Amino acid sequence: MDTQTKFIWKVAESYRADWRTTDNNNGLQVGYSFTPNGQYQLYQPFLAAEHAPYELGYVAYSIRHRHLGIQTDKTKKLWNAELANGSSFSISDALSMKNPSTREMLGSSKSIVIDPQNASQKRRRAINDLLIKRISNWVTSYGLLSNKTTIYLDEWTTTSLEFEWIFTYSSLIRNLINTKNFSSETDVLFRPGIEENFPTAMKLGEATKLINDFIASRLNAHTESHYSNFEYTLMPNHLTGAMWMIVANHLKNKIFYMPCINQFTPCLQFLPDSRPGRQGNPACSNACRQRAFYWKQNSDLISIISNCNESAILYNALLEKDARLSDPFGQIKSMK
Ligand SMILES: [Zn+2]
Repeated sequence: MDTQTKFIWKVAESYRADWRTTDNNNGLQVGYSFTPNGQYQLYQPFLAAEHAPYELGYVAYSIRHRHLGIQTDKTKKLWNAELANGSSFSISDALSMKNPSTREMLGSSKSIVIDPQNASQKRRRAINDLLIKRISNWVTSYGLLSNKTTIYLDEWTTTSLEFEWIFTYSSLIRNLINTKNFSSETDVLFRPGIEENFPTAMKLGEATKLINDFIASRLNAHTESHYSNFEYTLMPNHLTGAMWMIVANHLKNKIFYMPCINQFTPCLQFLPDSRPGRQGNPACSNACRQRAFYWKQNSDLISIISNCNESAILYNALLEKDARLSDPFGQIKSMK
């Protein structure tokens, strides 16, 4: 396809990130965004960023399900929110009450309290910290979503929540195909849209229609059609459009992507699931595979944390269908 080679995107050497304004009256910082720094490198998203939509979706997914990584004395600092006045607090403690909801993620992406005092302000700050860290990683790999001068964190978060929806649907389909339970009449638990937090029971056909309508609206907003040589082609307006074309193509051709097995650090990279019908354990690198084995050996520690997390992942739509995705500890247990 022409579009694949024609469409080129750019990623800068690094990105500076900052809050745009400080609202001293209310003690808030507002409008977080990323600014490119240094020279650009060009790449072809259709060839080099096929996993990018899932990795962006997984930012919201991993925060929603509190995939915080294993916390030891050595890694503790990574899991603290550092405040401007030099003090810090544990992100895991701040989120211990319940899983962050869609609404909380969107709210936390707009502004933060500079000096959080109570539990709800700390919770907001913790969600914001995770959003910034995980989206920054993504930006460093793939660049900005569009050519707009400023893309604020709430737009990043919204886009992440949209691709989270695609990721959960893709995982559902992958699982149904593997269990040979693939009919539009199959009952599924599915989270209908980015506004809702809990899955609803529906027929697979209904879930598929919701996803189809959603992808159609996104393609409408982020691509243009071109006609030449008696042929129509779809051209993305920017990286977001390319990502919607990529997931549309994957769902059509039943191509699936899986998160790296190392959900302990955690590594948030995705790999193609090239082994349908088998319980694959993809690792992005030897380092990640070794880390996963290391934590498997420390299973005492894992079972303690696993028990704590159990209630947190109870409502996950994928829990019954594909435990490995929502439960990194189950994933490790299944390793040979
Ligand atoms: Zn990895």
